Amino acid sequence: MEKITHFIGGRRVDTNSDRYADVFNPALGVAVARVALGTADEVNDAVTGAVAAFPAWSNTPPLTRARVLFKFLNLIQQHADDFAAILTREHGKTFSDAQGEVARGIEVVEYAVGIPQMLKGEYTDQIARGIDAWSMRQPLGVVAGITPFNFPAMVPMWMFPIALACGNCFILKPSERDPSASLLIAELLQQAGLPDGVFSVIQGDKVTVDALLDHPKVKAISFVGSTPIAEYIYARGSAKGKRVQALGGAKNHMVVMPDADMQVAVDALIGAAYGSAGERCMAISVAVAVGDAGDKLVAALAERTRNLKINDGMEKDAEMGPVVTAAAKARIEGLIGKGVEEGATLVVDGRGFKVPGRENGFFVGGTLFDHVTPEMSIYKEEIFGPVLCVVRAPDVATAVELINDHEYGNGVAVFTRDGGVAREFVRQIEVGMVGVNVPLPVPMAFSSFGGWKRSLFGDHHVYGPEGVRFYTRAKAVMQRWPNTASAGAEFAFPQMK
Ligand code: NAD
Repeated sequence: MEKITHFIGGRRVDTNSDRYADVFNPALGVAVARVALGTADEVNDAVTGAVAAFPAWSNTPPLTRARVLFKFLNLIQQHADDFAAILTREHGKTFSDAQGEVARGIEVVEYAVGIPQMLKGEYTDQIARGIDAWSMRQPLGVVAGITPFNFPAMVPMWMFPIALACGNCFILKPSERDPSASLLIAELLQQAGLPDGVFSVIQGDKVTVDALLDHPKVKAISFVGSTPIAEYIYARGSAKGKRVQALGGAKNHMVVMPDADMQVAVDALIGAAYGSAGERCMAISVAVAVGDAGDKLVAALAERTRNLKINDGMEKDAEMGPVVTAAAKARIEGLIGKGVEEGATLVVDGRGFKVPGRENGFFVGGTLFDHVTPEMSIYKEEIFGPVLCVVRAPDVATAVELINDHEYGNGVAVFTRDGGVAREFVRQIEVGMVGVNVPLPVPMAFSSFGGWKRSLFGDHHVYGPEGVRFYTRAKAVMQRWPNTASAGAEFAFPQMK
């Protein structure tokens, strides 16, 4: 079986760890590779290599760094389908969805090649007599990214293109569930001319992550994953003096007003709830039907949910693939059972779903609940599977209150034809990314992505301008070149003369 290891010092290295995890093809339900789980010593090797590479890389002019990323951009475009095939094999998402994931990652690389413009500082001539002031942003040093299973190419690309463009060295700790994309990224960066040690990959789990969190030479951590781990990463990383941005889980609502175009709303919900088997942090998992929208909405959703085309993601007609692991399938099916026990109406039951010829695959059928209420586990918890819950609300104010009371605040959408309702919704809602008649309002690469409440720990959103700020620190410089004799020491705080 293929052995997936680390990429340190510009090459794949064998591991001295005896800890491994199986990597599955979720559509077949069989292990296809084994991934090494890195030790603290291996983390130290990666960090030491990155520390050694930092002075030369950070002193490389931004334009030259951008040119390396430009070459990488060309290579990744050429290999886009190779990436997509890897993603479908290890994650399970459909091939076309995997192509979309790669395309969204590429957009961040396109943004990062503009780094010379973004690193320009500010300058004030004659801030006081004979004194000029300016500011500049400098890289942090060695930074690390810890990423989730659900976007094994895109989420790393939210981080490293900007970190590298800013002059940092980057260590990626990908998800152990689908680790192969990380190695292709590393090899293409090397082919693009990135010096050895500037980008490394360390495979692993909690042991590996803890070693990164504790390593004094790692200056910043970007994390994307579930909320309990995000909170842990934020607490432990900041206690060690690091800059941390930790993006967590979600429970994204879509409010459907009675005046919404029902066909458009149903199409939006079906794609946003069941695309990628619901394993997206921006997936809609709760539809809030306002007023008399409920009955029409549930009837249309039920019909569409029953007819979802669920198959191996490599099959052309597949709309939805399997979930990532047997454990994920068991957890999702367990939560569906809990929903029934707690009194929700199970309209479409996806438990026990089988694809002919792929009987061992980790498939869960599209599942639809109606009459879900806020105290139920299926409402409170992030299910991260193809399960859509419909909550009924009498009016938009109740819908807003419901959403604002939820612990998560990643994404939200409202579907309506009333501009006034939409405007007020946007202003009142306590969620970081808001769509108006757009179900998945994911900011483009030149904006920044981030949720509110327990969907984000730290104050920097990821990629875009906030990414540049996260991976650099500001320095303020004040300069005087005296051309007259010194007037002597000043003992009082200077005042404008
Ligand atoms: P996860 O939290 O289980 O794992 C994320 C990363 O943390 C992985 O690299 C994993 O190896 C590591 N990890 C796991 N347990 C750890 C521990 N105890 N200590 C230290 N490190 C640990 O998340 P996942 O299941 O891979 O991904 C799904 C989650 O990610 C969902 O909750 C989803 O909402 C979230 N997510 C959020 C965003 C966002 O932008 N907010 C984007 C994508 C995914």
